[in-house]
Amino acid sequence: MKKEKEAYKCPICGWLPQRGEKGRRWTHCPNCLSGIHKENGEGLECGGTLEPVGVWVKSDREWEIIQRCSLCGEMVSDPMSEDDSPVKVLSIASKPLSEPPFPVERMEELTRMMGGRGDLGGYYYEQRK
Ligand SMILES: [Zn+2]
Ligand SMILES: [Zn+2]
Repeated sequence: MKKEKEAYKCPICGWLPQRGEKGRRWTHCPNCLSGIHKENGEGLECGGTLEPVGVWVKSDREWEIIQRCSLCGEMVSDPMSEDDSPVKVLSIASKPLSEPPFPVERMEELTRMMGGRGDLGGYYYEQRK
């Protein structure tokens, strides 16, 4: 028996897509911006929860969400989708200013991931200009 394409359901907040959006794929939940860490950088299975810790602006049109795995601590960056909740994105973008969600020594890793171009909470800084 063929497996039917399952509709997306967020395992973290239980978000379900509207009708008619079946078959669409999200790498993270548009509602809570979390995802599942399927495998880590070494290709090993993880299964931890990817929690959103920041947002950075790659270029004018490309925004990415930085997520950190609650299980292995690995950080990944995932392109934002147009379905992502803007309120949630903004609340995350301004979060690192008050309470850094990651150890400072990991900043280097982050900077490398961003190719040295990004800035955590970029949106927030732009607003202050
Ligand atoms: Zn969710
Ligand atoms: Zn992980």
